[in-house]
This record gives sequence, C-alpha cells and structure tokens, in this order.
Amino acid sequence: MTGCGGSTAESSKSAETSEEKVTTTVAAETVPPETAAEPVVTSFRAPEEYGKVIALTFDDGPDVVSTNMILDVFEENDARASFFLIGDNITDAAYDTVRREVELGCEVNSHSKTHSYMDKMTAEEIKAEMEYTDEKIKEITGVTPRFFRPPYIAVSDTMFENIDKPFINGIGCNDWDKSVSAETIAEKVLEQAEDGVIILLHDGGSNFRTAEAVKTIVPELQKQGYELVTVSELFHAKGIEPQEDDILYSRAEQTTMY
Ligand SMILES: [Zn+2]
Repeated sequence: MTGCGGSTAESSKSAETSEEKVTTTVAAETVPPETAAEPVVTSFRAPEEYGKVIALTFDDGPDVVSTNMILDVFEENDARASFFLIGDNITDAAYDTVRREVELGCEVNSHSKTHSYMDKMTAEEIKAEMEYTDEKIKEITGVTPRFFRPPYIAVSDTMFENIDKPFINGIGCNDWDKSVSAETIAEKVLEQAEDGVIILLHDGGSNFRTAEAVKTIVPELQKQGYELVTVSELFHAKGIEPQEDDILYSRAEQTTMY
C-alpha cells in the first residue's frame, strides 16, 4: 500500500505512549464494510516529537479530476491533507477518489449534503444534512467523519446544538474565485503559513488553479520545515482536544469563535 507519512516507523515509536494506544484502539474497533477502503492506520507520535505543523484542507469535492491531481502531489511528497466533502458530490463515479484519499492517509470530513446556508435551517434540516453525508462517507471509508466545515462558514446556535463535531474554518485566499490565479493562490498560502494553522482551499468544481498551486505549496512548505498533517493530527500535535461548541477553528490553538 502506498501510504503517506511512514506509518511503520511511527507505529513503533508511538507504541511507547499511552496516548497512541488510544488512537490505535479506535482504529481497530472501526470495522469497515467489505466495500470500504482500507485506511492507513496512521499512528501519531507524541506531541513533543512534532516540529512545525500545518493542515491543508480542501472543500467541495470529491471531483474525479482535480481531487486526484491534488492527491498526486500529496502522494509524491509524502504529505497528508484533509478533505471536506459535499454529500451530493459523492457519486458512484467518485467512490474511488474518496477511497484513494483514505488510502493515502488523508482525512475525510463533512461539508454538509447540499452546501446550503445551514444557519437558516431548522434542527431537523441540519440533522438530515449531516446524517446523509456521514452515512455516505462511512459507506466508503468505514469511519464516521470527525470534523465539520459549515458551507460559507455560516453558523447558528441551532447548528452548534445539533452537530456533534468540532467546526473547522481555516485561512483562505478565495481560491474558488476563477479570477485568482494558481500563482496568487500559492503566494497567499505561503504568506499566511504559520505553525498550527489550518489552510482552507477548494478541490471541488474542477479547481485546476488550486491543483496547480499545490505543486508549489506542498514542497515549499516542507522546505520551510513544516510537516503537512491532517486536522486530527494537527490538534494531536498541539495537545488540544477540539471542542464541539462555539468555536470555529482556523488554528489548533483557537479559543474564540474566529
Ligand atoms: Zn464549500
């Protein structure tokens, strides 16, 4: 299996910490259905063993072309990303793309079913958006997604009350806007890179500009000493348990809403 992150070496190292045993247990208890992808059991190291970490995240996929272009870059550079999927985009044709995300050690999370303004929705409508996408993702990955990114970063009290996942925002650069070039995307992301932050980009909607930009972003961040990790690993590396209420995380160490 072509996994990211040298998980073999990490497993032996992490077995020494009790924290790691918890991670391993969770993974072992999740029995994927027969059709599910085989996720790389990525064992996290002890938090003090991390240097600078950053989480690149991609919204609105899966897209069979642009998502795979982005995955190629992460695979080539042995790095990990997190993807926030729109339930309605998880078509049968996109199953293999989602499988590949997991098989490369990337994290698959929820970005709702229909990508609507959920701050205008009732509790029942919110739950339906979440349940559909959770089920779809679980069907492919064997795991219920851990994090949620609200469409348009629009939130309400009703959403916080009815969604039992931490809400993830991120530092972006309007890369969904077709007038923003690959060069500008790369430049803006590198300018805003900082230890512990979450970067918000888009792989959905055939975003070839972002796919092009990550060819620069990923190796350059690594050259600057960053380890590109999933959102889960970012929180773990910073020793933080993400909260499910009233915070929109753009960095692991976020304590206020934005
Ligand atoms: Zn979106």
